[in-house]
Amino acid sequence: MKHTARTVGFQTGERNIFFHILTACNLVCKHCYINPDQHGNMRVSREQMDRWLELFVDSARKSNLIFLGGEPTLHPDLIHGIIKAKGLGYAVTVDSNGYLFHDFLDRIGPQQLDYLSFSLDGPDSMINDPIRGEGVFEVCTKNLRRAVELGFNVSVIYTVNCRNIDHLNRMGHLLSDMGVKRFFIQVIGLRGKSALTEGQRNPESKGQAWQVSREKWFSVVPEAARKIAENGIHVTYPKVFLDENEKFDCAGLVAENYFIFPNGRVYRCPLCEDHPINALRIEEDRLLINPGLTEDKFFKLSIPEGCVMNKLLQPDTLSYYQGRPEFRISCCLLKQEIDAGP
Ligand code: SF4
Ligand code: SF4
Repeated sequence: MKHTARTVGFQTGERNIFFHILTACNLVCKHCYINPDQHGNMRVSREQMDRWLELFVDSARKSNLIFLGGEPTLHPDLIHGIIKAKGLGYAVTVDSNGYLFHDFLDRIGPQQLDYLSFSLDGPDSMINDPIRGEGVFEVCTKNLRRAVELGFNVSVIYTVNCRNIDHLNRMGHLLSDMGVKRFFIQVIGLRGKSALTEGQRNPESKGQAWQVSREKWFSVVPEAARKIAENGIHVTYPKVFLDENEKFDCAGLVAENYFIFPNGRVYRCPLCEDHPINALRIEEDRLLINPGLTEDKFFKLSIPEGCVMNKLLQPDTLSYYQGRPEFRISCCLLKQEIDAGP
């Protein structure tokens, strides 16, 4: 069976609510995008969690609720939040770094959670641990295997950067050995600490020490994704570069995504999270529209480079020939999928 990637357009009525319930984390990954200057260092209370979950519910449409941090299992009320969210009709995912605090797996059953997602940035500790921290690979894979044994739907997120891209093709064997059925490839963004660290080390680098080039991306990721899918794993990876005749769509206009932070900021576009330009905010448990030059004012701008926020915030990702962009950058939320199969 030939595995081909297909672009998954934004679905009408699709709703994704990414709920950062705290910003604290036990790890200090090199590419962490949490930015305490912008996202604060607080956590939502149990009562806030309930009220904010109610605020975003829409009984007429399927809504995906993704609990994030920091590390969401550090929050003592996460289990309460999952049960509340399921009761409100959300499809619920928890994105964890794998440490699963507060006896997570003993306090909730697989039928109460739609997906439990683990972050791994390498097929072994030699690759993963220099990025995510010493000993992290062992803890994460041990807890992941236990979650699979208990019957949870488990997925893995792998953030591609120039230090682990050449090891992506080795993930197929590991994932299939662990019984993982869904694999998400992400690409490093020039945000948060990944930008700061490289900027401090070398102000000229603009984070390029972590980013991968367009040529490298195309030479590795589509083929590695296809091979991984041959192991019976459903693989998703970001589109990043639009094909010549492919239509550009901004998710901020055609989809409904909310990125909620514990300080009450609510973004519609994840690229904007390092800047105080959030379109919405939660104040006294009400969702309010922010005035002024907020992210949503940019979504309608049509430019030959594709995504306008990418051009404004990451202009070094673009290149030009005779004044014209050599390629267009897609919305960072546009995905390609390859179905699982032997
Ligand atoms: S696990 Fe996530 S939140 Fe924690 S340091 Fe790593 S990237 Fe940041
Ligand atoms: S990444 Fe670009 S295209 Fe996607 S929502 Fe943000 S501004 Fe729109």
